[in-house]
Amino acid sequence: MSTRIQSVTCHPLRLPFDHGGPAPKFAGRVRTTLDSCLVRVTLDNGLVGWGEAYGAELNAMASIFTGRVAPLACGQDPTDPGLTAALDRILHNMGRSGLVSHALSGLDIALWDLRGKLAGQPLHALLGGAKRLTVPAYASLLQYYGDEALVSRNVQAACAAGYRHIKLHERTPGAVRAARHAMGPAMPLMVDVNCAWTASQAAAEVNAMRDDDPLWIEEPIWPPEDLSALMALREATGIPTAVGENASSLYELRQIIATGAADYLQPSAIKGGGVSVLWALSQACEGTSVRFSPQSAFFGPGFLATLHVLAAQATPAVIERLFCNLGFTPYARTLTFQDGAFAVPSRPGLGADPADETDLAHFAG
Ligand SMILES: [Mg+2]
Repeated sequence: MSTRIQSVTCHPLRLPFDHGGPAPKFAGRVRTTLDSCLVRVTLDNGLVGWGEAYGAELNAMASIFTGRVAPLACGQDPTDPGLTAALDRILHNMGRSGLVSHALSGLDIALWDLRGKLAGQPLHALLGGAKRLTVPAYASLLQYYGDEALVSRNVQAACAAGYRHIKLHERTPGAVRAARHAMGPAMPLMVDVNCAWTASQAAAEVNAMRDDDPLWIEEPIWPPEDLSALMALREATGIPTAVGENASSLYELRQIIATGAADYLQPSAIKGGGVSVLWALSQACEGTSVRFSPQSAFFGPGFLATLHVLAAQATPAVIERLFCNLGFTPYARTLTFQDGAFAVPSRPGLGADPADETDLAHFAG
């Protein structure tokens, strides 16, 4: 008889951070830690897999795992490739986005970790094999609220650390200009404004950044699902757009590809469906005008999963890495970063367990 899922638990991970500026705000609160949920799936043969779910509200996430996800997943076959999709369908009345989707994303990543471990293969091998041994990263700077001196200083620090691509979370042309001046004319510069503008405001704001040559403008419009406004913005400015981290389902993300509504597609492994959805979208982008460029502003198993997907897909892409100092860096011994790129892990599954290196008792809040 095949092995079965015995338990599913989630473990809050709160990482203190310093991004070289005043503490930024997130979802209406000052942010002093970067939070996510580690998801631990144990099989009846004792094997353990790890995933990561978006940590927007850690106590609520624990309830979702205890009350909904674990009872449905326990007893199931972890190698069933349709398991996450089946649970997504069973739970669809709880909403097509939000915490339940995030929880299933974390479960899916843990299931893929287990499939790799059961097969004795790294995740990228299950996806057809690595096309490259390293994946270049872009430094994703947190927000400095238009403080041009802080933007300049932190862009310089990212360049000194070896990054050759930079993304800002700024909304002013002055901040973009400061970054461009600090990094020079040749390096790609992306600008993420987190849905700062209405459809009628966006073109003027984007055009004001034009002289500093942004590679893409990310989530320029509120609400992010207004794809017709997104297309109109590109038509008006000629500057590529990026969107997808807040899309609510594989279906919605496929619609972006089918319509060409954005130039860069940015699903999140820990919000939008785990490895299964990430890989499906990676493959769907191949041969289209849409570049697969997943969001990965997190540090646990979701980051490793994204790294494996980008190693396995045919088209090269750059992985997002938040640029900050952490109170503790998960996988510090596993993830090697050199010349602006991360080496792709080669051990079975995701390539490392957080419990190998993380004192969960100390960091769980
Ligand atoms: Mg973003």
